Amino acid sequence: MSKTDWVIQGGHVIDPANDVDTRCDVAITNGKIAAVGENLPVEGAAQVFDARGKLVTPGLVDLHTHTYDRVTPLGIDADSFCLGRGVTTAVDTGSAGFDIFPGYRRFAVEPSKTRLLAFLNISRIGLAVGRSTDGDEPGELEAMKLISSEKCVECARENEDIVIGVKVRLSASIADNGKNEAGAYRHSQEAAETLSLPLMTHHSFSTIPLEACPGHLRKGDIYTHCYHGFDSTVVDSSSRQVHDAVLEAKSRGVIFDLGHGMGGFNYRVAEICIEAGLWPDAISTDMHTLTCDGPAYDMPTVMSKMIALGMPLKDAIRASTIGPAEAIAWGDRIGTLGVGREADVTVLSFDEKEMELEDTIGQMRKIDRLFVAEAVWRAGERGEMTRPDIFPNQVQIDKGRAAAEKAVLRDD
Ligand SMILES: [Zn+2]
Repeated sequence: MSKTDWVIQGGHVIDPANDVDTRCDVAITNGKIAAVGENLPVEGAAQVFDARGKLVTPGLVDLHTHTYDRVTPLGIDADSFCLGRGVTTAVDTGSAGFDIFPGYRRFAVEPSKTRLLAFLNISRIGLAVGRSTDGDEPGELEAMKLISSEKCVECARENEDIVIGVKVRLSASIADNGKNEAGAYRHSQEAAETLSLPLMTHHSFSTIPLEACPGHLRKGDIYTHCYHGFDSTVVDSSSRQVHDAVLEAKSRGVIFDLGHGMGGFNYRVAEICIEAGLWPDAISTDMHTLTCDGPAYDMPTVMSKMIALGMPLKDAIRASTIGPAEAIAWGDRIGTLGVGREADVTVLSFDEKEMELEDTIGQMRKIDRLFVAEAVWRAGERGEMTRPDIFPNQVQIDKGRAAAEKAVLRDD
């Protein structure tokens, strides 16, 4: 019998996929989950981690990140900002299109300890130029020549081990004043359909109406930044009700992803959506260079915000593990602590703290429990933890407040 490498002892283990929600131990052997149960033997274990008073969860899955470091302006180093914050699988959302995907594999996926999967951008250049979608910067949809469903399909097939979907950003400012939005949307829908993979749409300041997006998304497609409060928000700004087309999409099985980012999360919008029963299927950060020092910070912080808004703990863990794993059809490989799975495990502390945290337009809400990643294992190997430099970061809060006037929904 092979020797146990780690016993993570005495934590509160929550593994929604396996209906585990109890104080117990997790044993890791040869990079795999060897056992989950009470009083597992520690004699002979190479190392023991004392998880008493902490939460033990499947390795977190962040469905919305940007990890093409140094090549794209938004790219961050996955091991510092994802693995170091408890995320064992980070899904890149369209940093690379078909022209620059080989580099993404070579320079991001291969050297990273974090497991990286990717939505392939419908534009050949991905996010090689530009940054956010609400400014004057050029974007990936400025010319129809940049867009090809055929080439996207070809590249996705060549990289089917890591490409799990197609991404399109629908915003007028990055699509020649909106002229190319409908064409790009059509190409992205065609590519995703041909591949039988989900399409993820970013939809803000867009000429595409909600009746078409999320209205024309298929079951399993993913609508990200679901709680943004700018033009194209899911909430009707005059009635302050969630748009019918959105609720209809939700009931059809369209997946709603948080995608916090620098503009994707507005407490007021979230509260209205939650009241209408529109919870996110996936909690995600949209980690990139403009969000990693706030207002998103990292995955446990975004989870803390959702819990503060009333999301039950177990649901928040589900939406950060098996929920996103299933959304990308990886539920049979990641997102649980099932025996025999690769040992991706996260330990979170939760300080009962009186503090306030910002959304993306500088609105504040009280956080009762602040989740912080204390330890992480990726395929049984312990990762190195990192922390935000400044937390909370007043500079980012002020930046958010400066953008608040562009929001169509906000606190009165
Ligand atoms: Zn993004």
